[in-house]
Amino acid sequence: MQNRVLPNEAAIEREDDDAAALIKTLQDEVRALGLWAPHLPPEAGGSGEGFLEYAQFNEYIGRSVWGQLVFGCQAPDAGNGEILHMFGTDGQKERWLAPLVAGEIRSFFSMTEPEVPGSDPTTLRTRAVQDGDDWVIDGHKWFSSGAQGAAFGIVMAVTDPDADPHARATQIIVPADTPGVDVVRPVPVLGHAGHGWSTHCEVTYTNVRVPMANTLGGVGAGFLIAQKRLGPGRIHHVMRWLGQMQRAFELMCRYALERETSTGPLADKQTVQNWIADSYVEIQACRLLTLDAAHKIDRGEDARVEISAIKFYAARVLNDVIDRAVQVHGARGLTDETPLAHMLMMARGGRIYDGPDEVHRMVVARRILKAFRSGEEWQFS
Ligand SMILES: Cc1cc2nc3c(=O)[nH]c(=O)nc-3n(C[C@H](O)[C@H](O)[C@H](O)COP(=O)(O)OP(=O)(O)OC[C@H]3O[C@@H](n4cnc5c(N)ncnc54)[C@H](O)[C@@H]3O)c2cc1C
Repeated sequence: MQNRVLPNEAAIEREDDDAAALIKTLQDEVRALGLWAPHLPPEAGGSGEGFLEYAQFNEYIGRSVWGQLVFGCQAPDAGNGEILHMFGTDGQKERWLAPLVAGEIRSFFSMTEPEVPGSDPTTLRTRAVQDGDDWVIDGHKWFSSGAQGAAFGIVMAVTDPDADPHARATQIIVPADTPGVDVVRPVPVLGHAGHGWSTHCEVTYTNVRVPMANTLGGVGAGFLIAQKRLGPGRIHHVMRWLGQMQRAFELMCRYALERETSTGPLADKQTVQNWIADSYVEIQACRLLTLDAAHKIDRGEDARVEISAIKFYAARVLNDVIDRAVQVHGARGLTDETPLAHMLMMARGGRIYDGPDEVHRMVVARRILKAFRSGEEWQFS
């Protein structure tokens, strides 16, 4: 990271053909080091050894917004790889998982729709209707991250509108070149349209026909799989953010010492000192909450409260710390002379994707209140 990724960030950020070639070179170097795909165990083609270790690893690779791409564990491919590993048939694993983990192809996860609230996926409208041995899919999605140039998507579609709300939807593997799949446009996010992996695309599905054999994990299992995917996915984001927070913190501290006013360096101002002290405490709290959640997941616990708590808290800390670092840098913080502007742009979505803050706070409060309602107390350990 220190020698190869951080010095090359500006070149990668141009997102042109040279950047694509550079990423490939860096990915090959990661493979040669035996560090490729650290989110997956060796039997799935990765180099991972559990959540706790992965959390610590991400503190390093998360320092760059490009780190996970270089190490083969970027969203949404990481989550898609995990659910294919957990729920895929042998045929699906051979056709989709193996090349995905090898980094030969990319994928996307297509759930959110512009017309209905993504926070409540029981409202999804995209339909898949069985016709002989095929599904026929019709629907309108957006924010399908990475869809531009991807080989396949995992599409969440309603297959039984009359079933219980959480048994209505199914996840279906859809090759991107299937007739009727149209990646309409990358939707610019805070003015950034992105390229390939960094796009968030609007996608329409019109009379898209795929074999029933492309069903992932069973008809009606869409929500169950989404939970399995989003739980680890959320904590993967948080792990990466730990690296981002620490980098912003370091930039803030260094610049505060370096920038002189007529009355001394910025580091002597109490406001700046408060920002540094608050950021230190909040980052450390995020680290320890993340390690606690990772430890519980490794022990086989569902860690729903811990995951939701760290998702909304870390998203807030991430944005606050980067914002303070930008403020300390003054106008320079908004330029491309430091990585902060790009980090700021990437961070804002963290309070929305994989569930907005408000929903995660609700999950935490409801679960805790449920324990008290049933006569128990909340166990912190
Ligand atoms: C950068 C980025 C990448 C993304 N990538 C993907 C992807 O790859 N695939 C995919 O399918 N989706 C993706 N998404 C979509 C994301 O998952 C949704 O944006 C998210 O689920 C929220 O849905 P929504 O945008 O429709 O907001 P809505 O559900 O309409 O919510 C709007 C706002 O209402 C408030 N709100 C909602 N529910 C409640 C509640 N119960 N209580 C209180 N307040 C509430 C929140 O403040 C929320 O921000 C991505 C989003 C972003 C920003």
